[in-house]
Amino acid sequence: MNDPNRVPLDVSDLGFSTSAVQAGEARQKPESAITDPIFCASTYTFPDTASVIRYIEEGQEREEYGRYGNPGEKVAEKKLAALEGGEDAVLYASGMAAIVGLLMAKLNAGDEVIFFDECYHRSREFCSKHMSRFGVVTRQVKACDYDAMEAAINENTKMLISESPTNPHLSVVDLEKFAAIGKKHNVETLIDATLATPFNVRPIDYGVDYVLHSATKYLAGHNDLLAGVIIGSKTQLESVRKLRGIMGGINSPHNIYLLLRGLKTFSLRMERHNRNGQAIAEFLESHPKVEKVYYPGLPSHKYYEVAKKTMSGYGGLITFLIKDADWRKTADVIDAVKIPRIGPSLGGVESLIEQPLVMSYFQLKPEERAKFGIFDNMIRMSCGIEDAEDLIADLKQALDSI
Ligand SMILES: *Cc1c(COP(=O)(O)O)cnc(C)c1O
Repeated sequence: MNDPNRVPLDVSDLGFSTSAVQAGEARQKPESAITDPIFCASTYTFPDTASVIRYIEEGQEREEYGRYGNPGEKVAEKKLAALEGGEDAVLYASGMAAIVGLLMAKLNAGDEVIFFDECYHRSREFCSKHMSRFGVVTRQVKACDYDAMEAAINENTKMLISESPTNPHLSVVDLEKFAAIGKKHNVETLIDATLATPFNVRPIDYGVDYVLHSATKYLAGHNDLLAGVIIGSKTQLESVRKLRGIMGGINSPHNIYLLLRGLKTFSLRMERHNRNGQAIAEFLESHPKVEKVYYPGLPSHKYYEVAKKTMSGYGGLITFLIKDADWRKTADVIDAVKIPRIGPSLGGVESLIEQPLVMSYFQLKPEERAKFGIFDNMIRMSCGIEDAEDLIADLKQALDSI
């Protein structure tokens, strides 16, 4: 373990792309292979009883049983912590497993959490339907209403939670304000930064306690796996890691290999996602059949100034409204595109398109959908890394066809 060849490169003064490729990885790996191997092992053995005792007493860094971690996962955790500028990272089998794992580890009966109301519908559902069964109270306030968030804090409040940017409205949280409210009231803060990624924003730099990602999206980036991660301080994540060892929501070694492979090109992919997102958002805004575009990189966006201040790029997710269209006419646009496939998810190399009304909110009544700001004429597109000109030409022919 003290072999200098096993120590990863110190990336603290190196660039983001160098970190994405090199951080967390031993200089020399098993069998001198350049890649980290996939260890298909449910358990890890000891040569004798004395070694078991040494492992327990000295807290040696090695594996024990697969539910507590595996070697590839440790590499991915170190890499993700380095990219995010955090001390430690805990990986999970999905983004939702990460949210559930964090909240279960941190909240007790009688505690309260406050959410900005624009959030991933399953996070909201977990809190309102399940944390409530354990006596945790969830309060929701309007997204980016900092006064309302502060007013909702009381002596039981334990965590402030938001996404940034939010999905699908792309509202951008002023992280300085958000973190300051938490610090002032001694309440922990969590940002789900899945849509931004550490390439575009690093909430920990603003004083946010925990950053969460569905690594299924941009971090893995190839629409081929599910994973989730929480980044924060070692002390704050200790109880989170312990509970994960009990709940077992861990990633398989195969999955981790794909995640590590995806992360090598993270910077390159994000540059393209950002460029495609900006170009396509500008095209959509200029099209006469488009009523409104939600994209933080457009000066018309409600949170453009906050985004410009805190983000270095705005990602590949765009939401837009079709002018004078009911849900069927909107669906006609989706059915007319030829390059993006119809499906949920985002952040992968392949472009995806969907109608939130149909994909995620079809069973809700129109009044309920309106409450969440989901309109019948809304389309959400995740721009992949194809050529922007091709995607624009495709969207143009689809819009012109209705
Ligand atoms: C997809 C997503 C999640 C859930 O992650 P999974 O990996 O699908 O479990 C949470 N938050 C946001 C913002 C997401 O986009």
